[in-house]
Amino acid sequence: QEVILDHGKAPRNFRRVEDASHHAVGHNPLCGDRITIYVKAGAGVIEEIGFQGAGCAISTASASMMTEALKGKPVGECREIFEAFHALLTGERDVEESAPLLGKLQVFSGVREFPIRVKCATLAWHTLNSALAGESEAVTTE
Ligand code: ZN
Repeated sequence: QEVILDHGKAPRNFRRVEDASHHAVGHNPLCGDRITIYVKAGAGVIEEIGFQGAGCAISTASASMMTEALKGKPVGECREIFEAFHALLTGERDVEESAPLLGKLQVFSGVREFPIRVKCATLAWHTLNSALAGESEAVTTE
């Protein structure tokens, strides 16, 4: 997928958010992806979100597109989008059913053919959940 390659090569919001209210570190040992997510949340809204780290094209593209999709969104909506994204990747939902919530994130539907890659694509999201939950332990996909 061209969109995934583009975000993998030139990730958006690839930076530390200096006044972040939440952050967490995620690790996917199967692939070696490592990521730190920074979030500045105020009044229940994601005001600023960024990430840093090193990983494969899918994990980087997923983090990049996640930050674009969630900036300015209510924190509660992020969980809904993550659930729809996860269901899309595991084949629990049809693309059409998730379309309104996911928007551009639908390009990841092809990843469901590659179960190992699902962990790459969801790493940023698990890490974001951990950051918003205020957990300081590093999360791992294992
Ligand atoms: Zn990976």
